[in-house]
Amino acid sequence: MSMADMREPIESGCPDGFQYMHPAMRKNFGQWKYHDDPQPGVLRHVANSGDQVFTIKAGTQRILDVFTLRKLCDLGDKYADGFIRFTIRSNIEFIVTDEAKVQPLIDAVTEAGFIVGGTKNSVTSLSHTQGWLHCDIPGTDASGVVKSMMDELIGEFTAWNMPNRVHITTSCCQINCGGQGDIAINVQHTKPPKIDHNLVSNVCERPSVVARCPVAAIRPAMVNGKPSLEVDEKKCICCGACFPPCPPMQINDAEHSKLAVWIGGNHSNARGKPTFQKLVASGIPNNPPRWPEATAIVKRILKEYKAGAKDWERINEWVERIGWPRFFEVTGLPFTKYHVDNWRGARASLNASTHIRF
Ligand code: SF4
Ligand code: SF4
Repeated sequence: MSMADMREPIESGCPDGFQYMHPAMRKNFGQWKYHDDPQPGVLRHVANSGDQVFTIKAGTQRILDVFTLRKLCDLGDKYADGFIRFTIRSNIEFIVTDEAKVQPLIDAVTEAGFIVGGTKNSVTSLSHTQGWLHCDIPGTDASGVVKSMMDELIGEFTAWNMPNRVHITTSCCQINCGGQGDIAINVQHTKPPKIDHNLVSNVCERPSVVARCPVAAIRPAMVNGKPSLEVDEKKCICCGACFPPCPPMQINDAEHSKLAVWIGGNHSNARGKPTFQKLVASGIPNNPPRWPEATAIVKRILKEYKAGAKDWERINEWVERIGWPRFFEVTGLPFTKYHVDNWRGARASLNASTHIRF
């Protein structure tokens, strides 16, 4: 191949987002005067030039098949200006510049089975990262939790009922995603991994597995004459970090993998510092296909938050004001020894400011 035939790779990195933006958004980029909320599920942005852009937001079922995607794109072509975008919480947004197109679009989207809402002081769609599709450590079906919970929370998605916006997240493993929510539903392993010694020497790079453990609980060992690993179960914190580099260290378990609910996580903003989530319920049955126990706890927390918080208080601000003992009183959730963080390394390793540390 001659030099002239070679080309620069184009398949790496994030594509330039401007090429996909609605022309009115491109034209007024950085020149917005204000935005408001004409009705639930609709945002209006007004530019200094006088242009208006209406964004209509609807929830989706998160994992979308090609037929549903085509249906959503057809709606965008027919009723909007041919532009759609997806948010991090799996909502779809249609964008129009003509106010007269807003209501026909809402009617068509609703008719097609999607729920319009998720703006302002509502409970917006749960976010999650479904490990079954792209990751190597999932311990539960986070998509299923999202779908069954959102089915129960449609009324809170379509209306402006909450004191402030509520972000709910889920995660399918115990250690990575799912930490950026007012309420988070995370998988919780409650026993150390069970090792299939026959497979370790064929599948795992033992030094990588030993290095992966955050509490140095894994040691190389010879078992039945074969190189394998052993776990000091007194040290193991059941985090599941050893499972991705070594699947024979099976941590998922139908009985012992549970769900836990954490609340109050928030990034820093103009009013306050970032706040950490705190565990409020643990050992919840991981109970597909509808996860009724976890959903009941989330609904109980939302009910008390709605009843007790002042206007514009986020969940963490509400709990800080009334105090954690009162939170457990009003929600009726039991406070147990598992709620006390006695891990000795926590003080040195947790970030408590927006400064980046290396
Ligand atoms: S929550 Fe864990 S398993 Fe799920 S996608 Fe994130 S890192 Fe992967
Ligand atoms: S589950 Fe976590 S703490 Fe336990 S052995 Fe594996 S990596 Fe170490």
